Amino acid sequence: VAQRLDGKRIAGDIQADVAAKVAALKARGIQPKLAVVLVGDNPASASYVRGKRRVAEQVGIESDLIHLPETVEEETLLAEIERLNNDASVDGILVQLPLPSHIREADVIERVDPQKDVDGFHPWNTGRQVAGLDTVWPCTPAGVMEMLRRERIPVAGRHAVVVGRSQIVGKPMAMLLLNEHATVTVCHSRTQGLADITRTADILVVAAGRPRLIGADHVKPGAIVIDVGINRVDGKIVGDVAFDEVEPVAGAITPVPGGVGPLTIAMLMANTVSLCERRRGLRGEAQ
Ligand code: NDP
Repeated sequence: VAQRLDGKRIAGDIQADVAAKVAALKARGIQPKLAVVLVGDNPASASYVRGKRRVAEQVGIESDLIHLPETVEEETLLAEIERLNNDASVDGILVQLPLPSHIREADVIERVDPQKDVDGFHPWNTGRQVAGLDTVWPCTPAGVMEMLRRERIPVAGRHAVVVGRSQIVGKPMAMLLLNEHATVTVCHSRTQGLADITRTADILVVAAGRPRLIGADHVKPGAIVIDVGINRVDGKIVGDVAFDEVEPVAGAITPVPGGVGPLTIAMLMANTVSLCERRRGLRGEAQ
């Protein structure tokens, strides 16, 4: 039976490291601050925002909530972001996605100052990621990498298969694994023979948003299975992996909930501190 990769515990370790860095910054009179922009009253988004602000408080990061109505005009939202860009006390700006359909997400992402882009979604940062330059990475794939590193799961030379190619998870996940010298295959909804491909994975990362997409037939015995999916089924949160079927086959597996989710929030805190240090030219010093 697979080892369970305990995202909650690892996230706690990351948060403890972040809290120590925040304390060191505070000792120098610097207060890291995250601005969270929430548009509308989507219950899932509101709950993610609450979770993020709670952890920020725990690690000593100040967080401001800018809550705008569902009907807000794009121009008003962009002006609000501009205000945060110009506010010297703000280190990181997070715009909770998805946004209402009358707002173009790409415009909003591009308006955030790349130096305050705590999610690492701005095309300027995407460019730096692809170019192999120092930058922040999207929190979810960064959290997966941090988990692999802390659990001492080797990546170099292994075959990593990523299911999903979104801008926020799949693509940066593939790039991060490639940077760590994995041989990477990316699958998506048009992939033919998904199981034949995923069965060759030493490390399988699934971020498709499809409950039970990955069953026992999709997994090589002993593989590391990372389930990024968050789906609500019959009032319960489940991943993209049929946990009951896959646990007896895999070498290690993340549960949902309690796997990748907590890591995402922990990395958001790490990114906030990293942007704070960077803007003040302290990067490396306070590590
Ligand atoms: P998207 O919907 O943006 O992307 C889903 C990807 O999966 C697409 O690339 C899509 O392919 C692919 N896909 C869909 N169906 C299949 C299929 N049957 N076979 C193979 N590939 C398929 O989702 P996100 O990347 O934003 O999120 C993915 C999941 O991760 C969701 O459940 C989301 O809730 C969760 N999530 C969890 C986070 C966490 O903190 N744990 C953070 C962010 C997301 P195509 O491109 O061809 O459409």
